[in-house]
Amino acid sequence: MSALLVSFQGDPEAFAASQRRLFEGHRLHVGNSRIAHAVAWAPWINGLTLPVPLCRQGWSGTGASGELLPTRFPVTCRRCRRLRGEDTDTEQPALFAL
Ligand SMILES: [Zn+2]
Repeated sequence: MSALLVSFQGDPEAFAASQRRLFEGHRLHVGNSRIAHAVAWAPWINGLTLPVPLCRQGWSGTGASGELLPTRFPVTCRRCRRLRGEDTDTEQPALFAL
């Protein structure tokens, strides 16, 4: 996996730790999208990692500005589901129980 190329002003260790607290054990949304992606951890700087969509859905920024948002919804991204070896033949899981 290639390292993230992002510019960040501040304490990288504190930022990476805050991102881990936010995203560990969760899924994520990119921007205003309602699609829930699985979380992967991409190398950043100094051995630190930052959360990214497992499927590598495109986005820009560090996540600190709200480009990536944690969610507890199940993974609805078909590519993430396929990468995790989950069934993609069934309908997309509903975000809310009806
Ligand atoms: Zn995805």
